[in-house]
Parts: sequence; C-alpha cells; structure tokens
Amino acid sequence: MGTNDTALPTGTGTRPGPAQTNPTEPLTLPSWQAELRDAVRDPLELLRLLDLPPTALGPPASTAFPMLVPRGLVARMRKGDAHDPLLRQVWPFAAELAPADGFSADPVREQGLAAHGVIQKYPGRVLLIASGACPLHCRYCFRREFPYPSQLAARADWSAAIAELRNVTDATEAILSGGDPLSLSNRRLGEVFARIADTAVTTLRIHTRFPIAIPERVDAGLTRLLRGTRLQTVLVVHANHANELDASVERALAQLKPALTALLNQSVLLRGVNDDADTLAALSERLFACGALPYYLHLLDRVTGAAHFDVDETVGKFLIAALRNRLPGYLVPRLVRETPGQLSKTVVA
Ligand code: SF4
Repeated sequence: MGTNDTALPTGTGTRPGPAQTNPTEPLTLPSWQAELRDAVRDPLELLRLLDLPPTALGPPASTAFPMLVPRGLVARMRKGDAHDPLLRQVWPFAAELAPADGFSADPVREQGLAAHGVIQKYPGRVLLIASGACPLHCRYCFRREFPYPSQLAARADWSAAIAELRNVTDATEAILSGGDPLSLSNRRLGEVFARIADTAVTTLRIHTRFPIAIPERVDAGLTRLLRGTRLQTVLVVHANHANELDASVERALAQLKPALTALLNQSVLLRGVNDDADTLAALSERLFACGALPYYLHLLDRVTGAAHFDVDETVGKFLIAALRNRLPGYLVPRLVRETPGQLSKTVVA
C-alpha cells in the first residue's frame, strides 16, 4: 500500500484541499504522487522550462482554477514553441477572464444534482463523482467550477453513494468520474470496486486522464484490482493530441489493456490544439498504436473561461467528414455535444 487516500492538493476555490497527513503513512510517496506533488504550478516557471520568454503568452490569468502541470507532460511540449498544442491546453490565457455570451459556470447544468456524489444523467448509467483531484488542470474543463467538496461520493465507506446507486433500479453501468478517480489510492478504489460489484451493476466505467498525464499511476496494484473484479471494465482515457502519447503513456496503456474489457479515448475539439484533420487523424492512429480506440470527440462544453477554445459545429462536422475519407471507421470518433436535460449525448456527426 503506502498511498495516501487522495491525491495531493490540486488547487483552491471549489476543489478539495490538501489530503490530511497520516502519521502512520510511510515517508516515501509512490512515484505518481511524487510527480503530482512536484507538478509545475507557477506559469513563469513553465515558460522557463520551455525556453520561452516571460511575455510569450501574455500575462497569465489569475483564477480560482490554478495552473497544474506534471513535469512529465512538460517534457512532451516543444521547447521554444508558444503554440505548442499541449501548452495551450494548460496555459491560463488572459482571455479566460473576458466575459463571453453563452458561457457559464455550469454549462451542462449538473451542479446540485449530485446527491451523495451520484448523478444519473442517462438511463441505465449512474455517475459517481469519485474525487475532485486531477493529475493536471485542463483549462477547458467543464467541471472547473464544480463544487466538489459538497458533492463527492468518496465519503467514508461510500455507503451513501452506494445507497443512491441501489435506488436506480435500471442501473447496469457505474461510471467513476470526477475530477479523476485514479487520484484515489488503490485501497480506496478497491473499496468502491467491491461496493459496486455487490450491486446489480454489470459494468464499471472509469473516466481518467491519469494514464496520459502521469502514466506512473498505472501500477501493479491498479491492474490487479481491474483484473480481480467480476465487473466488465471500460477505461476511457482523455487525450487531445498525439504528442500526449509518448513511450511512457504507451507502456502504461499496454499494461492496462489486458486487465480491461475495453480501452477507449475521448477528446475535446479545441481551437489551436486539434482543430484540423491532420492532427485528429494522427491522434486516432497514435491511439490505435497504443491499444485505445477513439470514442468521442466532444464539442466544447461552454464553461466560463474557455471561450477561446471554441470551435464551430460546422467545422467539427467538416473535420469528421475529412477523417472518414482517410481512416477506417473504427478510427473515426463520434462528434458529440452534451445538451442539458437530454437523455443521451447528441451525435452531431
Ligand atoms: S478534463 Fe478531466 S483531468 Fe482535466 S481538469 Fe477536468 S476533470 Fe480534471
């Protein structure tokens, strides 16, 4: 064991505070927690590491959603390139502070819905907000203002959340989301896996960016847990650009895949990051080489602070058509939009 129960602190505002120090924990942190502890939090340090001048991207925005970038991800950014697609995903551009019509703190209108950290958006599927901590802070995140401390399923022994789950009579799939559920220790994950396996649910889905951002999180304990459950397991990682998938990520996904029923990826269509056909085709091909299939390409959820990432729906449709002309069908993601109140995501193309 030797892991804390949650990841180290990721920020301020509506995000959880620091994990409590447990005097019985060993002093040596697992490598993924050390990576998180040592992540870059100072925008000017990030520019220095990338050999960029302090003014390269303009003054950073100061928001309640602070910058957080693991050093392993920084190493995948191109030095001296202010337009690097990985850098653009994490840099707090001043544009975040500009008001934008149609953008709000809760674009999919889910805040307040999470009774004991459990949300049912769609028939048959139940989502558990397992953690508010993340391996990095993506500036376009639709939950960047989610009130995690009051709406977490990961309390005590998960009993209240599991009771909510049992109340959903048609639930066949439990989705662990967040934040990032893999910010929990293997011990805590083992608890929730066991509690879910003790219900009528047949499939466990985990939405995570950890294998991409901090691939060291994929350890023997995690793969043992995934192999050991009676549940069908679907892991959905989140990568937006092929440059995120270096050799360390490829190794992590190769370790995970034999323990899973399915390994999928979801991306967000982001201006200046992946809004051209060559980039999206390279992402699909790289994912496939790493053992994952492209599942969804999301149109941006219009969260406050993310308007500079928005790509028009017609451009998204054009890009998907271009992918269909050059890739096999299984490498073309579905372009989707989430509309509050609808019984499923809307497939746009
Ligand atoms: S997109 Fe995922 S990993 Fe990124 S900040 Fe949001 S919840 Fe965290």
